[in-house]
Amino acid sequence: MNSEFCEISKDSRSYIALGRMNGAGFINGFSRRSGGVSRGKIEGFNFGFRVGDDPDSVLKNYELLADDLGFDLSRAVCARQTHTNNIRIVTPMDCGKGIFQIDSDIRDIDGLITNERGIALIIFTADCVPLLFCDPVNKVAAASHAGWRGTAQNIGGRTVRLMREKFGTDPKDIIAAVGPSIGVCCFEVDRATAENFDEKYRIPKPNDKFHVDLWAANRDMIAAEGVRPENIFISGECTVCNSDRYYSYRTHKEHTGRQVAVICIK
Ligand SMILES: [Zn+2]
Repeated sequence: MNSEFCEISKDSRSYIALGRMNGAGFINGFSRRSGGVSRGKIEGFNFGFRVGDDPDSVLKNYELLADDLGFDLSRAVCARQTHTNNIRIVTPMDCGKGIFQIDSDIRDIDGLITNERGIALIIFTADCVPLLFCDPVNKVAAASHAGWRGTAQNIGGRTVRLMREKFGTDPKDIIAAVGPSIGVCCFEVDRATAENFDEKYRIPKPNDKFHVDLWAANRDMIAAEGVRPENIFISGECTVCNSDRYYSYRTHKEHTGRQVAVICIK
């Protein structure tokens, strides 16, 4: 794990967080699987309401998360993610959507941005790349879900652009975190999928397969929007290599829960 990230442990639950983001006034964290009240095949700290878990258990997990990280759950927001590059500006009208109103109007959305204090933006993943962004000067927070489709559609770069357009963010002020997700070590795809990415992110393998580096692709697309490379931090934890510690779709197939990435302006 990148040493810029620190581990937070509460009872049997654990998170990693970017210290600089916290120091800049933003609660942030990436959850791990251990602890939590979910049982059965997706035992642990699951945040997906649509993966066959008991909804009461999922809600309890959200309560534990909010207590651990120190945000108000009633004001938190999740999207119904569908691997798009659509981004929503979150306002106080959206508080509770995706958690207390599971079928909300925040659907087909894979990125969330707000400048409201105390509204936690939550993205869930199980191998896909979670991206967190903060602008400490204008106090803007963002979270995006970048699977290979979202990465190919540059959701990270679009997030930076929207922070600039809507809130006057100077990309040079942004601190960004690329959270635990499938690494180049494990992300093997066929040629058709690999061809969505520049050659520099692809490693050819036997049988016309390729490994793709989604972390580097996201880092470079975020940097291309003006974010300083030294302000982009990759956690370096692969969810497949560490599938005992994280939910991993590649490893556990349809019997997998979802971990979360959270950011909230203090
Ligand atoms: Zn790996």
